Amino acid sequence: MVIKILGSAAGGGFPQWNCNCRNCSRFRQGRVRSSARTQTQIAFSPDNQTWFLVGASPDLRSQILCSRALSPRAGDTSSPIAGIFLPSAEVDAVMGLLHLREFQRFVVYATAAVQDMLKAENRIFQVLSRGNPPVEWRTLSSKGRVGCYFSDDPGASFVCDTIPLSNSFPDYVGFKFRGVEGTNEASVGFLFGIAGKSFLVAPSLSNVDGFRHTAALSADLMLIDGTFWSDDELRRTGRSNKTAREMGHLPLSGPGGLLARFPRDVPGRRILIHINNTNPILDEDSEEHRVVRDAGFEIAYDGLEIRL
Ligand SMILES: [Zn+2]
Repeated sequence: MVIKILGSAAGGGFPQWNCNCRNCSRFRQGRVRSSARTQTQIAFSPDNQTWFLVGASPDLRSQILCSRALSPRAGDTSSPIAGIFLPSAEVDAVMGLLHLREFQRFVVYATAAVQDMLKAENRIFQVLSRGNPPVEWRTLSSKGRVGCYFSDDPGASFVCDTIPLSNSFPDYVGFKFRGVEGTNEASVGFLFGIAGKSFLVAPSLSNVDGFRHTAALSADLMLIDGTFWSDDELRRTGRSNKTAREMGHLPLSGPGGLLARFPRDVPGRRILIHINNTNPILDEDSEEHRVVRDAGFEIAYDGLEIRL
């Protein structure tokens, strides 16, 4: 199995077009040791032929063009991308669907709540049904498992467990809608199991209880929410009045933060992803960067490739 990190930043990327925080301004001036990052996008292939995406970032078109494996192969009439798993209906997780509207059949896996948010609140996504056959939607339960077959070979399959992670809704969703939908389906993580190996994707983690008692903690690879260093990071940088927790993200630091609460005996590789441009861990010379590395976490960057 191959996993590619096509993008590793939170919404806005790094640097962000309108942000003059310490990270963004120093990056533009060439005064910080760091890498530019596009918005979080993961791709994986069980067989190095057929590819699946996790999320559909606003940068998806350029991310696909930068990866030869995701381009149509000689003799093929369509892309090797067969399906997309949507962890939420947040703008930076779904906007890329509009880049994929070019008359190709693929499967979108999402909870009923995520599908409703896209279909009922956003008519623009109806362009996905222009193909013949149109894009196919498959409904995930927030605590269920699906088997995915990716070729005519009956052995070519993997399983996906869905894990409820956060009850945070996108800003654009109306109040009336929030009252109706089951809150444990708004944002989910995925545990993919392929040929005895597994990896977890949890880009929006509001607490660590969500996957503490599941097989997730024994995964060979964990791609985990590294959005914010501190709870009040956006307030202190003047970007927003919301805290990290109010946005559905457990901060890395602090007594109740991810670093303090994450189980010590996790065997697999742990990589922080969905990193906001204000997060000081992006500065490779910072104390915060050193602290997360010393705690056993890696920091995702665009172009990172992992083989399991
Ligand atoms: Zn910034």
